[in-house]
Formats: sequence, structure tokens, C-alpha cells
Amino acid sequence: MTPIDIPFEFRHTCWFCGEPGNREFSLKGGSNSVHPSLSVPCCSECKPIAAKAPSTSIWECQTYVKDALIKRYASHLAIGDNWTREELEESEFSCKILSGFRESGWMMYEIARDRVNFRGWALSLDGVALDEHWDTSFSFNGLTFASLGRAVDYYRQLYGLDRDFMTSLLNLLGQSRFGYALKLAKLYRTSPSRDKQRLLRELADEED
Ligand SMILES: [Zn+2]
Repeated sequence: MTPIDIPFEFRHTCWFCGEPGNREFSLKGGSNSVHPSLSVPCCSECKPIAAKAPSTSIWECQTYVKDALIKRYASHLAIGDNWTREELEESEFSCKILSGFRESGWMMYEIARDRVNFRGWALSLDGVALDEHWDTSFSFNGLTFASLGRAVDYYRQLYGLDRDFMTSLLNLLGQSRFGYALKLAKLYRTSPSRDKQRLLRELADEED
């Protein structure tokens, strides 16, 4: 396996998550793949995840690893969704568990966020650049997802939202208003279907 070129500042860095790492993940190339056989440096946590990825390219592997990290660290990532750093610092948690949360919660959020957001570096083998994959990533509230659909899934699970309703809202409002769509989906979380339909109709009228 040919190791990918590693820029000086990324020596001993996991290509998937940006954490320090001294492992290697190899992927066989060939006729089914868009790139030749190669290996990327990685950390001990991302390596076994990447090995499970049903993928034909290293970029699909990357997406799979990111999704797994988002799932695994959902509770850490949710901290940044529910709190600001200042709110957490000023919170009056006094019992043992909650004061621990106040002290380390924001750091846990930042570490998980940075690992999810890390995009690796452009791949090249012996100085020859590999084609960049088509970037479909979507960012919201400081977090980058592999796609808009992945972001919808993440918030749907986090807040128990109705996926079809959220998708309809996004179709009407556009992804640039993701935050507004999310607010509405949360507001209507327990509403009966006819109320949701009525809101969608009203929004559609407004948009026209
Ligand atoms: Zn890693």
C-alpha cells in the first residue's frame, strides 16, 4: 500500500478526525475504485470504524467515519446545541455530577465538534493529486455534516422530530433557512398532523 503524502503539520495526525494517531488504515484500489490502493494515517478509534465501512473510496470511508463519530458523541455534541459556553460557565450546578459537567462539558463538546468537522487534507500519492470527491457537505451551528440529509437525521434523532415534516419545511424554506425550519419542527413536535399540514400550506402561500 502506498502511504498518502502527509504535510509536515499533519505528521502523526488522524486523516479522519484530526486527533493524534499512529495507526494506518489501508484501502485496496483497483477496478472498483476511483483511486489506487493507498493508506492514510489514523487514530486507534477511527481505524476499526473505517474498517467496517462498506465503501469503494477513501472519501466514502471518511463519510462513514464521520457519521459514526456523530452517533457515538451525540451527547457531547448536543451540549453545544443546548448551551453556550457562557451559560454553562455561569450555571449554578453544585452537585458533584453536574459541577463536573459544568467544568468539562464545553471541552467535551469542542473536542467532538472539531473531530467531526475535520476534513482531512487533500490526498496525493507521491506528489500526484487524487481527484477530490464531490463535496455535498452541509454546515449548521458550527457542525459540518456529510450532507443535508445527514443533518436532518441528526436533529431528528436528537429532538425526536418528524422527518417528513422537517423535509417538507426545508423544501419550502430552502437549506439556507435550516435554523428556522428546525425551530418550526421543534415547535410542532407534538402537534397533530393536520396542524402541521396547515402550517405547510400557510408557508407555501407566503413563499408564493
Ligand atoms: Zn481519528
